[in-house]
Amino acid sequence: MSKLTGSKKATQFTESVIREMTRLNELYGGVNLSQGFPDFPAPAAIKAAACAAINADVNQYAVTWGARPLREAVAREFTRRYGLEVVADEQVTVCCGSTEAMMATMIAIIDPGDEVVIFEPFYENYGPDAILSGATPRYVTLHEPEAAAAPGTPQSDWWFDPQELAAAFNDKTKAIIINTPNNPTGKVFSKEELEMIATLCRKWDAIAISDEIYEHIIYDGRQHVPMATIEGMADRTITLNGLSKTYSVTGWRVGWTISPPSLTGAIRKVHDFLTVGAAAPLQAAGAVALGLPDDYYARLAAGYQQRRDVLVDILERHRFTCYKPFGAYYIMTDISTFGFADDVEFARYLVKDVGVAAVPGSSFYKTKAGRTKLRFCFCKRDETLQEADRRLEKLVAVGVTLH
Ligand code: PLP
Repeated sequence: MSKLTGSKKATQFTESVIREMTRLNELYGGVNLSQGFPDFPAPAAIKAAACAAINADVNQYAVTWGARPLREAVAREFTRRYGLEVVADEQVTVCCGSTEAMMATMIAIIDPGDEVVIFEPFYENYGPDAILSGATPRYVTLHEPEAAAAPGTPQSDWWFDPQELAAAFNDKTKAIIINTPNNPTGKVFSKEELEMIATLCRKWDAIAISDEIYEHIIYDGRQHVPMATIEGMADRTITLNGLSKTYSVTGWRVGWTISPPSLTGAIRKVHDFLTVGAAAPLQAAGAVALGLPDDYYARLAAGYQQRRDVLVDILERHRFTCYKPFGAYYIMTDISTFGFADDVEFARYLVKDVGVAAVPGSSFYKTKAGRTKLRFCFCKRDETLQEADRRLEKLVAVGVTLH
């Protein structure tokens, strides 16, 4: 057999559907509500800081685990917000986006055969991350909100069954991946839910990998609770975060891990040999970004809440059933009433014939549950959302004839 083939690992997962939708969108000139990146400018102060760093010749490799000012800003802000001491030198590693932070973390802690618990639906990258690191994923369902559930009860939001979660843990469980606020559901895990997860982590001596990249994008008075602040979890939680979403600079590729000192060395070694380091001038600008005043974050969340409401209204008028998010900048929708064979067929039709790109639900699921879902993002200018509204008029006409 020819050796001119991809590896077994590489054939176990497909190209990213999310990124593919962006490419299709460009091909058909659509409105891109698929991949989660803003189409409005980043804050002027941080762009100026990046230009200043380049002009000041901060253009060579930074220290592999991250320039000191950024690592110290990460540690300082976490401690200031959540009251948990973080020592930059022992706990913070700057990576090329939280994407690399996740990959470096998984490679650093996983041995072949180790199991990793992942809630489903999940952020698309976690599947390939598990395969590349040699982990066996164990999926636990995040159930859809129940229409009849009383407001304020767990079932009125995306929810997990504590027994199903407990059943996913065993001696082989090395870690659980948590993402709060959550992509794609918009769920914000409550303190009680995190405590339940923490109890299992302590019982099975497992690590919590907590992707908190939407920390500041949160609505309706919900509070972000970092997993590391739950009792007994500081020394078994690896927190992932980055500049991408909070400062609208997804193309900068700067993220980080905050890890217990006992795990930092392994993460830093893997990170070093994967990438050497993140872009030095953008790390300098990142330190400035983390120093923005608190009202920046309040305005960020308020702006996104308004956009959420606009897009929920648009989608509901066009007959999508929306699961209203409480955090992050995506809306999961149910598309079963449109009469298409599945989510991929609908998403292709939507981008090609209607001119709006969204992500097929199946890219967030291992099971078939995603085939009735489509995810839209709302990190877009008002004009962009209004243009999507105009284009979706066409969907109604076509949808009716399809029934
Ligand atoms: N984690 C989640 C849950 C995301 O939704 C995304 C991007 O959409 C990322 C990580 C990627 O973040 P970064 O740009 O820092 O690599």
